[in-house]
This record gives sequence, structure tokens and C-alpha cells, in this order.
Amino acid sequence: MTVDSTSKPDPPESDSPDCPVGEEDCFVIDELAAIRQELAELSQAVLTDQLTGLANYRHFCVQMEQEMERTQRSGQPTSLIMLDIDFFKKVNDRWGHEVGNQALIHIAGLMQQTVRRLDIPCRYGGEEFAIILPNTPLAAAIPVAERLRAVIEETPLQLEQQSLSLTASLGIGTYLLGEEVSIEELVQRADHYLYQAKQEGRNQVRHAELPKVDLVSSDEKAALFDLFGKPTEGEDDG
Ligand code: GH3
Ligand code: MG
Ligand code: MG
Repeated sequence: MTVDSTSKPDPPESDSPDCPVGEEDCFVIDELAAIRQELAELSQAVLTDQLTGLANYRHFCVQMEQEMERTQRSGQPTSLIMLDIDFFKKVNDRWGHEVGNQALIHIAGLMQQTVRRLDIPCRYGGEEFAIILPNTPLAAAIPVAERLRAVIEETPLQLEQQSLSLTASLGIGTYLLGEEVSIEELVQRADHYLYQAKQEGRNQVRHAELPKVDLVSSDEKAALFDLFGKPTEGEDDG
């Protein structure tokens, strides 16, 4: 391709813009790059809990909305785990607020290590955490919650002289295709089971009853009936 001398030069490889007055060493461009960098950092900070580094409540709401919309498009459920540290007030009372903060950081770290790559651990507020599990039915969310519960129980926070054992209670809610519920209602659903876990002794996972899965589809059943005839009353227990 030929280029005449009046045509503009090719844009630079990077996405940084050219100096408006054609200076090679342009302070405006340098400042613009610094402002862009700062803006990106601020945008990140607005969505991040400063203590634990997890997604904060604001980010939780944005992600939750996205995942619930995705459920409506794809039909895949979204699960939500709510987690609350057991007797956390005692930790603060006994060890002080600073150790309490270390405990929150510790639990957040365990969450990040334990959940699956696409799951989104968040600090919901205070000593309460939430984990959004995209494309996850209840049956698949239960082992995630159970694994996290066990990891927290088995991994004490190491202090200088002692180690501090912690446990947490977890409740799971699941959002299904076609349901008209808000984020708050889904949180309440998970919170209901979290409350149940507290009532029933803490250090537990609670959730709705698993739906009974019919392993044989109705088409397959019809085909089997054709071959072998319909079972008489009592033979077919579903
Ligand atoms: P339960 O097992 O019923 O959940 O008992 P709990 O003591 O954990 O529950 P409660 O809600 O009575 O206490 C929560 C405590 O968490 C009280 C509050 O001081 C503490 N807390 C909340 N946010 C923070 C924080 O950012 N840092 C510290 N250190 N403590 C916090
Ligand atoms: Mg609480
Ligand atoms: Mg608590």
C-alpha cells in the first residue's frame, strides 16, 4: 500500500493517544495516562472491601443482578451462600478488635482458596460473607458450602503465641428460571437457612430440601412401558 505524505501516520501499537500538538515528549499524554491509571484503581477500590480484599456489598449487588439475568437467559440456576462467623463478638471481646480484623482477613483468604474459580466471594457486611455461585444448582452448591465450613473449622488463625479456632454457619438459597424474586428476597432465602444453622448448633450448612430428580425421563418411561407394559399399582414407586 502506498501512503502519500499528507496522510496520517499509523496509530501507535499501544492505546495511548498521540500528543495533540505533535510533541514527542508530551507531558499532557503522560498526565492523561496517570489519570487513566488512577481512575482504573479508584473504580476497583469502589468495588473492593478494603479490609479483606473481597468484593464489597456494592459489587455483590452488581454481580448478583448479572447472574440472575443470566439465569433468565440460560435457564441455569444461580446459588447464593450466606456465611456468618460463629460467636464473633466473643473473638473481639476476648482478643480485641485488631485480632477480630485478622480473623476476618483469615476467613476471606480461606474463602478465596476454597471456592471454585468462577464463584464470587464477597464481604456482605460486618462478619457476614456471601458467595455467588453462577450456573450452580442447589445440589452442586451444597458440597462447596460444606467444604468451606470444614476448611474454616480445620484451619485456626495463627496468632503470635496461640492459635484461634473459628467456625461459621452457612445457609444456601437458589434462584431458578422463571422466579420473580429480588436480590433482597434471594438473600433472605439464604439467610433463613443461615438462621436455621445457627439455631441448630452453628458450624453447619443448611438449605432447602433437594428436589427429587427423576432419573428416567417421561419419554424413556413411555418407551419402557411399550416394551414391558405398565407396572401394576405399587410396583412403580416413582
Ligand atoms: P452468632 O454466632 O450468633 O453469629 O454470634 P456473633 O457473636 O458472631 O454475632 P453478633 O452479631 O452478636 O456479633 C457480630 C460481631 O461482629 C459484633 C461486631 O462488633 C463484630 N464486627 C462486625 N464488623 C466487624 C469488623 O469489621 N471488625 C471486627 N473486629 N469486628 C466486627
Ligand atoms: Mg452476624
Ligand atoms: Mg456471627
